[in-house]
Amino acid sequence: MLPFARVSIIGLGLIGSSIARAVRVHMPTVSLSGYDASPEVRATVRALDLIDDVADSAGAAVTDADLVILCVPVGAIADVAREIAADLPAECVVSDVGSSKAGIAKALSEALPGATIIPAHPVAGTENSGPEAGFASLFHDRYCILTPTDGADAVAVERLSSFWAKLGARVETMDAAHHDLVLAVTSHLPHLIAYTIVGTASDLEAVTQSEVIKYSAGGFRDFTRIAASDPTMWRDVFLANKDAVLEMLQRFSEDLSALQRAIRWDDGDALFDLFTRTRAVRRSIIEQGQDDSRPDFGRSHD
Ligand code: NAP
Repeated sequence: MLPFARVSIIGLGLIGSSIARAVRVHMPTVSLSGYDASPEVRATVRALDLIDDVADSAGAAVTDADLVILCVPVGAIADVAREIAADLPAECVVSDVGSSKAGIAKALSEALPGATIIPAHPVAGTENSGPEAGFASLFHDRYCILTPTDGADAVAVERLSSFWAKLGARVETMDAAHHDLVLAVTSHLPHLIAYTIVGTASDLEAVTQSEVIKYSAGGFRDFTRIAASDPTMWRDVFLANKDAVLEMLQRFSEDLSALQRAIRWDDGDALFDLFTRTRAVRRSIIEQGQDDSRPDFGRSHD
């Protein structure tokens, strides 16, 4: 028994197109409709035959759906919700994949009063964007966090959990504010740090750009993958999760100052202790199947 029969995806980029591909693999009888604001993206989705019906408006894409998933940048979610409001079937479940959750829950309930809304965040992605960047196995063994509000429809939560589990995800449920704090430290802060390091290196005058690129295997290149992430998406994430990011950034700045002090005062023990603890974190991530165990992220050294 499938949790949903007619799924509509609004926003057919990396995440939206990956959901479409994964539905085709794992629930091939589900009918898929969708819409993207970009005519080029709609044309690509048609050419790749990723969904059954590419509509010409968000409203037209949802008229028949029993699940609608909003896969647009966080800053566009409220607008899209308003666009579909008049066409949304009464029994339909509305969800999203936005990387911050508290603000989205509020925006969705304001735009769609009375609708069954279950926000979600698949913690899976790459630095690439657009429908060609998607792939069906993106959610395999990755977590998908549902953030239903108190009193949310329990059957709808169960159906959405089952949907994500069928796409291969490990599903967890969490309070939206707690989600935002956890993701601020595991995702948003690392992105901010990567953007900063890559920005700093590209602004340096004493070291040339070509040197930065030539010697990047020393560590810099691992930050550049994250710093290549979509500018629209990440602008929206930082503005939407402002409070939690600023809280984590404050904590990070204090820890960075402590490291600065340890280096200045030749406190090798402090450095060694921290680096030993951080190495253990990497090992735990690998043990829990959340990254490749091969050295250097599995890069080939042939
Ligand atoms: P993406 O590849 O850029 O796809 C987003 C698509 O939505 C684009 O084709 C965009 O068109 C379209 N769009 C923008 N505004 C729209 C609107 N008002 N109506 C309809 N379509 C609209 O981005 P993505 O990486 O899939 O991210 C989508 C969502 O997933 C974001 O909320 C993000 O926070 C979340 N997420 C991303 C990741 C990740 O690693 N990428 C991971 C988990 C969750 P244009 O290109 O013309 O703007």
